[in-house]
Amino acid sequence: MMFCPKCGSMLKPLKEGARIMWVCSCGYRTTDGKIEISEKIKPKKDIEIVEEKAERLPITEEQCPKCGNEKSYFWTKQTRAADEPETRFYKCVKCGHTWREYS
Ligand SMILES: [Zn+2]
Ligand SMILES: [Zn+2]
Repeated sequence: MMFCPKCGSMLKPLKEGARIMWVCSCGYRTTDGKIEISEKIKPKKDIEIVEEKAERLPITEEQCPKCGNEKSYFWTKQTRAADEPETRFYKCVKCGHTWREYS
């Protein structure tokens, strides 16, 4: 019987390929007495998701009223009632200035 050194709970055996992993509900896992940190990859993944989001915004040729740059990200948002026109938002690629326009 093995116990988690982190929280003291009983470890559950988990067969992974040819070897046995001992896992705890807190996320701790060990194999052959060696510690494997399963959370290792997580922070990197979070950063990747954030980067993807920024890249996903389409770019349009709308002039920034602040710096005059002619490339802006844009997205639309429906405000209040469904029969009202949607609001278009712009964000300057260069200076990050954000503004909106009613269509
Ligand atoms: Zn634990
Ligand atoms: Zn700008």
